[in-house]
Amino acid sequence: MLAQPAPVEARLGLVTRWRAAAVAGQIANPDKRHRELIDMVKVGSTLMYSRKWVDVFAQNDCGKGIIVNGIGRDMIKKVAAIMLSLFGMLIFCEAFAGVELNGVFQQGGMVIGKTTPGDVVWVGDKKVRVSQEGRFVFGFGRDHAKKQTLKIERNGQLVETKAVEVAPREYNIQHIDGLPSKHVSPPESVLKRIRQETALVKAARKTNDQRTDFLSTFEWPLLGPITGVYGSQRVLNGQPKRPHYGLDIAAPVGTLVTAPAPGIITLAHDDMYYSGGTVILDHGHGLSSTFIHLSKVLVKDGDVIKTGDPIAEVGSKGRSTGPHLDWRMNWFNQRLDPALIMGPMPEQAEK
Ligand SMILES: [Zn+2]
Repeated sequence: MLAQPAPVEARLGLVTRWRAAAVAGQIANPDKRHRELIDMVKVGSTLMYSRKWVDVFAQNDCGKGIIVNGIGRDMIKKVAAIMLSLFGMLIFCEAFAGVELNGVFQQGGMVIGKTTPGDVVWVGDKKVRVSQEGRFVFGFGRDHAKKQTLKIERNGQLVETKAVEVAPREYNIQHIDGLPSKHVSPPESVLKRIRQETALVKAARKTNDQRTDFLSTFEWPLLGPITGVYGSQRVLNGQPKRPHYGLDIAAPVGTLVTAPAPGIITLAHDDMYYSGGTVILDHGHGLSSTFIHLSKVLVKDGDVIKTGDPIAEVGSKGRSTGPHLDWRMNWFNQRLDPALIMGPMPEQAEK
């Protein structure tokens, strides 16, 4: 008897937790992980409910288990395709030339890599920072192309060129027509201010710090109902507006916002024109979190932050329709989706 597939969010959560375990290299509790994976495939489809399929995932610490099982990479690709159709996301690890990739191979997704220390890694035409332990991170923006090329140089030699597939997503597009034509645009007098503030945000997101806080397990900066999602867009009178890149969590003004992961503050601004109180927390290697519409900023530039440290209070400042936290994630200028990193909001917080 096949159980009803769990809601997308629940499935996402399982996959995300599994990813977190894989990223952290936690194979200390393989039984639990195995059970989770069995549950995951159970809710998805009987097709995958076979020892063989499960083993692919349970032991898939990038290739090791796969080779043991004698299942090749073609099989992994097949499994990945099924995962994509069942769970709406492509998450698995890839192994090639001694490189391991773990993450969400989808627009808005983040991927964490491990390679031989000393390697040079290119993602597209960007040379990425590789830690002393060989760790690196990259991500795919909202409208990222379907493929991304990775190049690995070892001892001055190109050892691998690899195209990874990036699954496209469908975003919630809202058409609103018949609005009065007098649309909201900022008065001339504030354009200069807006430009200056945009430059500050851009500069902060260019930070390429050596810290590897992006390897941490991320925690919710606060709990509350999700009222806005990544990628959604409004088309007003046929005019597409800027997509929404954040994850909105509703909460009363003054609710504490805590750091989802460690990092260093690269921007702390009390009141920006569009975003109100704005904080950027850098997690290293170009991965950053931005928190906006804050009523109160509790940190300053250069503060070193641990997970759970208070950084700000929720507000409705800037262009905002009500008190909420808008949490954005970036890999440099690529916008990532915090929901793909966090999975679902804990149920008790959703009301
Ligand atoms: Zn928002």
